Amino acid sequence: MARWVLHADLDQFVAAVELLRRPELRGRPVVVGGTGDPSRRGVVSTASYEARRYGVRSGLPLRTAARRCPEAVFLPVDRAAYEAASDTVMATLRELCDVVEVIGWDEAFLAVDTGDPEAVARLIQRRVREATALDCTVGIGQNKLQAKLATAFGKPAGVFRLTDRTWPEVLGDRPTDVLWGIGPKTAKRLGELGIRTVAQLAAADPRELARRFGPTIGPWLVRLARGRDPSPVVAEPYRARSRGREITYQEDLAGWDRVRREVGALARQVADEVAADDRPVGRVVVKVRYAPFTTRTHGQRLVRPARRAEAIERAALAALDRFTERRPVRLLGVRAEFVPEEEAAGPAPGDAPMPASTDPSAPARTGPAVSASTGASASAGAPGPPASGDPPRS
Ligand SMILES: [Mg+2]
Repeated sequence: MARWVLHADLDQFVAAVELLRRPELRGRPVVVGGTGDPSRRGVVSTASYEARRYGVRSGLPLRTAARRCPEAVFLPVDRAAYEAASDTVMATLRELCDVVEVIGWDEAFLAVDTGDPEAVARLIQRRVREATALDCTVGIGQNKLQAKLATAFGKPAGVFRLTDRTWPEVLGDRPTDVLWGIGPKTAKRLGELGIRTVAQLAAADPRELARRFGPTIGPWLVRLARGRDPSPVVAEPYRARSRGREITYQEDLAGWDRVRREVGALARQVADEVAADDRPVGRVVVKVRYAPFTTRTHGQRLVRPARRAEAIERAALAALDRFTERRPVRLLGVRAEFVPEEEAAGPAPGDAPMPASTDPSAPARTGPAVSASTGASASAGAPGPPASGDPPRS
């Protein structure tokens, strides 16, 4: 018997839920996003595998998706349906295993003591299929990082195992941003140091990276590349790390006064959702997508963590002030990040940035990109570096 971490991840989740109630669309390219009208503005939430073959990806404008795949069927986002399916899946996983850590609406880690993790993985797939008629892929690893990365190799509906032993041969030649927690920005900075592959990062000198990325992040990046991740699977109820809202405007916003008003309104809406959580917000991030499609983000840390709408709005407007370009805007987003619980519990251990969540160019891989978005996105689940001297956050 050994302890294994399994990562169960639903295949093309949102599209799959839609196909269940529209079986006639099976086998056709299906794109879910916005209001489902590709002549209107909005972005792709999920594309079925058939549509992905045409280069349709999450985050792509619906119009571009329609151009790449004219025969695609476009459907509106139906968040309630996906949440209901997600609840059933997670309940099914909890029946099979005591330690289930939900990290997004379509993925979870399970800690399992077994001599045959593949058999457990197949059982999970069978039960999820029986309960929901949805397929999932299961990654197996000696830790969460390995299990999460293994899943990509098992897609769709497969099982794949990654271990300390197989890690170098499977991942060594891959670019660094394949690692969970390294986004395009960090990958670019590593590239400037001549570090492009996982093997190169694994062989890098942690002290050298500490000089470049700081004493916490630098060595953590090297550990990631070596497939090390000491964070335990935690069976606590899933709590979003942030709450956010985005709006794609059908007409570009031309005046900056209008942009400010809209950001203020979005911040107040986010504050309403934050109030329901009753956790203090430490930072507010504003996203601006200029026409035609250039996205920038800036964050503003609150002087003191707060829940009040005025404080969140003030921080959002301060973040907006950091945008120097005043070009027409097609999308605005405001995200309030909660103070991480270990920081809320004690004195803040410095201000270590989290590469995954500060990487604004990383597209959200789950959840509708338009309308409300919670922290249930891929970046929310990604591991951060450990706070100095403390156990790593999970
Ligand atoms: Mg998935």
